[in-house]
Parts: sequence; structure tokens; C-alpha cells
Amino acid sequence: MSVYLDNAATTKPCTEAVTAILDAVTENFGNPSSLHKVGLNAQLAVDRARKIIADSIGADSGEIYFTSGATESNNLALRGAIGAYGKRKRKIIISAVEHASVDETASALEKQGFEVIRVSPRDNGQFCAEDFVNACDENTCIISIMLVNNETGHILPVREVFKSVKRRFPEIITHCDCVQGYMKIPVRVNSLCADMVSLSGHKVHAVKGVGVLYIRKGVRVIPTVTGGHQEKGIRSGTESVPLISAFGFAVEKYASDIKERYEKVSALKVHLLERIAEIDGVTVNSPENASPYVVNISAGGKRSEIMLHFLEQKEIYVSSGSACSKGQKSGVLEQFGIRGKNADSAVRISMTSETTTEDIDAFADVLREGIEKIRG
Ligand code: PLP
Repeated sequence: MSVYLDNAATTKPCTEAVTAILDAVTENFGNPSSLHKVGLNAQLAVDRARKIIADSIGADSGEIYFTSGATESNNLALRGAIGAYGKRKRKIIISAVEHASVDETASALEKQGFEVIRVSPRDNGQFCAEDFVNACDENTCIISIMLVNNETGHILPVREVFKSVKRRFPEIITHCDCVQGYMKIPVRVNSLCADMVSLSGHKVHAVKGVGVLYIRKGVRVIPTVTGGHQEKGIRSGTESVPLISAFGFAVEKYASDIKERYEKVSALKVHLLERIAEIDGVTVNSPENASPYVVNISAGGKRSEIMLHFLEQKEIYVSSGSACSKGQKSGVLEQFGIRGKNADSAVRISMTSETTTEDIDAFADVLREGIEKIRG
């Protein structure tokens, strides 16, 4: 039995997404920009997905811009806002635990002369909204905070921060990387007080290569990709009808029972923690109030990569941290106070609503075996 517990890296596309792709590459293959019926049908498929995704976050269709994925969405959010407002406002605020697509984009802008402030969690590993608000001032252009951390599942106080920021500095653009929260916990742009939100298709049972940047009406963004004026000029390039359509179908499938699936995965997390508690030397790094979809543990001081390969030999697939960092230490665990041996032996288990108790049991059994057998 193969057990896939690396859903924060990517999810298996659902049947509806696959069917949508097949339809868009065999039947509905037109270019949405073409002024004939074949083009119009492709445009209708894109519009359909746009409406479904807009509804799922409480936005208008006109505020949804398709991109190649959340990496591009995050780049567009930061670079686009700086392009529009950065002449007057030179400061960028982010959390110190952002995904590389935000963190490294901020670093690139820092090299161009912008000031970047990275707000860290407090000693208890939790973020304090006040720390973000205190970092903001009249010179701040954009604040970008993720909703759910991809390595530990920490839920950041985005709504609290953005609400306070908007109250004190209404001009600051608020951006939230919602990739690991979308379709798992409710994401509503107004409730979050977010001017921009990034989403990724392949984390929600659609496919790789498609993402969304929600941009609130009235917020200016200078495009990072120029050309044929698709997506109202904000993101040029012929729309990938197959991927966009698949994204829409996956969201349509999963949007209606977020709460039920959250409860199911919460019960799985409880079971996982019970099984892990039986194993000597294993500690849990994710806090109790984290998203249940991501559980970060330290596996008895055994090096992550070695444990990963041990699990892999038994067809159990987890991650040592963020899939994007591929062996490179990201520094995020350290920010959360996970250091030394605990960081070196960190294993990320990330679930989906299709994960079963049997999957968790299989993982826990092999983890125990690994801890007993792996030396050093
Ligand atoms: N943001 C977060 C929090 C992520 O976890 C990821 C992917 O791991 C991304 C952004 C990048 O998403 P994409 O793979 O769609 O570029």
C-alpha cells in the first residue's frame, strides 16, 4: 500500500479536474482571444472557472487574475504594488516565515533599495498582530503575510493584522499568500481585509502551472509580464484554458464542504498525535492551534533525509520541510524556535480529506521502526 502524506507539496488532481483538462485539449481547444465561436467557447470555460474561484473567496469575477501559479502571483503582488506605489513608499513588511516566493522577492526588492522588515514570531512561537502593526508607517507600501505556514501549519493572525493596519494606514496594500489555507479554512477577502490574495491550483486537487492573484478593484498593480493584454493587461500570455478550467472544477468540488473536511482532518490529526505519542523521542513541532492539514514533528534525532528514505522504501511519502526548498534549510523552523537536532530531524506530514486512519497507522508503524533501526 502506498501512502502519500505530502499534500502540502502537491495534491493528486481530482477526476473532475482531469476530465476538464481532457475536454479542453481535445474539444474546447480554442484561444480565448479569438473572435469566433471556437475562441468564445474557450473564453466561456475560463469565465466559468473565474466565477467559481471568485465566489469561493467572496470576490467579483473581475478581481480574479490567472497566473502560472502562486509563485508568480506572489511576485506579481509584491513587484506589481511596488511598481505602482513604490516611488513614494519605500517600505515592505513581511513575516519572517514566508514562502521563498515572497521572501526572495522581498530580498530582490531590498537589493533595489527598498527597506524590508521581516516580523518574527514571539518566543512562544506565535505571531503577535501588534508587532506587524508597529512595523508599519506612512512610508510602507505593502504588507504581505501568509495565512497558513507550509512547513508547520501555523495559522498567522492575518485578519487581525490587516484590520488594524487598514485602520491606521488605509493606503498600505495588504497581500495574503493563502496557498496552504485555501479550500481548507474559509478564505474571504473582505473578512481578511486583503487587497490581494494568492492561490495555487495544484494544492487544491487541480494541477500544477495555474494560480490566481485576487486584486481588489481600485488597487493598482504594474504588470510583470507584458505582451498581448490578456487578463486585462495585468498578466499577458494566452490563458491556459485546460489548467484554468481544471482549477475551477476542483474548487467547485471542494468549496462546499470545507468545514466537514476540516473536522475530518482534525480527527486524523488527533489520531496521528496519539500514535506518535506512543513512540519514544518523537516531538511535535506544530502548535495545537495550527491547521490540522500540516503536522511537523521531530523524529527522535534521526536526520530527516535518512528517515525520509526509510519511509520511502516502505512506500510512505512525507517531506522534510517545504518541497520548494529541496534539502536547503529554509530558516522557517528556526523562526518557530525549532533548532539543532529537532530541526535536523524534522518531518512534515501533510494530509488531505482523502487521507485515512489506515494511512496514519501505516506511517506511525514505519516511523517507529525507523527510529528503532536508524543509527545516529
Ligand atoms: N506559497 C506557499 C505557502 C506554498 O506552500 C507554495 C508552494 O509550496 C507556494 C506559495 C508556491 O506555489 P506554486 O507551486 O503554485 O508556485
